[in-house]
Amino acid sequence: MISEKMKKLVKNNSVIREMFEEGKKLEKLYGKENVFDFSLGNPSVPAPKEVNKAILEIIEKEDSMFLHGYMSNSGYEDVRESIANSINKKYQTLFNYKNIIMTVGAASGLNIVLKSIINPRDEVIVFAPYFSEYNNYIQNYDGKVQVVSPNLKNFEPDLEEFEQKINKNTKAVIINTPNNPTGVVYSEDTITNLTNILKKKEKEYNSQIYLISDEPYREIVYDGIKVPYVTKYYNNTIVVYSYSKSLSLPGERIGYVVIPNELSNSEEMIEAVTIANRIIGCVNAPSLMQRLIPYCLDAKVDIETYNKNRNLLYEIITKNKFECIKPQGAFYLFVKSPIDNEKEFCEIAKKHNLLFVPASSFGCPGYVRIAYCVPYEMIQKSEEAFKKLAKEIYK
Ligand code: PLP
Repeated sequence: MISEKMKKLVKNNSVIREMFEEGKKLEKLYGKENVFDFSLGNPSVPAPKEVNKAILEIIEKEDSMFLHGYMSNSGYEDVRESIANSINKKYQTLFNYKNIIMTVGAASGLNIVLKSIINPRDEVIVFAPYFSEYNNYIQNYDGKVQVVSPNLKNFEPDLEEFEQKINKNTKAVIINTPNNPTGVVYSEDTITNLTNILKKKEKEYNSQIYLISDEPYREIVYDGIKVPYVTKYYNNTIVVYSYSKSLSLPGERIGYVVIPNELSNSEEMIEAVTIANRIIGCVNAPSLMQRLIPYCLDAKVDIETYNKNRNLLYEIITKNKFECIKPQGAFYLFVKSPIDNEKEFCEIAKKHNLLFVPASSFGCPGYVRIAYCVPYEMIQKSEEAFKKLAKEIYK
């Protein structure tokens, strides 16, 4: 018999599973080319050519006993050093290998950080709309999720409500910019104001409140927009990075965590996060993928492909009188449901073979997420379906 805790998780999972199965069902009925599945956040741009080239070179060059062996739970020192140097060059920081811990993607990065800091009933603040897995990750360690309501004006965080929600039990805050599901990049002003609030509250409660910056979409940005490097604004920041999107390697599971020296009790935290990597069962990040990173420090996927998708889909959506802000990053459009119940809207869209994710699953009912990490031709072909959907909705 599975545990009571797991029973609940299995039940909650069924929304996503249902949608996946629904898509498959529609494909069988109408043919794959006539179904417009905008529900998944799976990168649609291939990994840059440097990736496969480097893998072949590494396999040729390196001793396979070493290549496939265990290493320190925090990863290879030379790989970590090369990442630290690359961040220093890009953002004028002062990291070295000790500040970098290799992880099994951002998902495990978040888990090992949360495992290292949460005592039962500690609170972690998230800003709606947010990546719903945060609920699971926080509850894995018996933490409590505190949600700040969405700011429907521009989807930057509501800092007034944020300040009110901080209390003596607040252990951490998670931000995600560029954001899944809105595509919004928090401005430098927002980061400055948010971190000023945290500094004030740390003083008030004589506590440490960790700012966890979840950054799988850092490189996926448009129109030259800059994403502030958060460790420069607040000492108790931990960055969680992933190559899942920047190198289109989500199945390979590789990322890292940055713990700056300025973080209070930094050495103790580095040790805890390293040990957490082992004891949550990851042990270490995949060896071949770690060895790959120094070859790909300046490589990234072709952002222009996503940009073209963004522009076309935004045009189709707004031309058909659906309301949405133009995203500055990631690969999602966050669209206001034209009827109150966004789940009902998704059902109507389904009749036109359009699949969206209802945003109540991101803590923001009344909206839907439309992922444009899909082939350009699919977006072109979906235009008719959007027209028909608009006609039915606004008749
Ligand atoms: N955080 C956010 C906001 C995400 O959207 C995702 C994946 O889609 C993750 C974390 C997990 O990423 P990874 O594949 O690196 O574990």
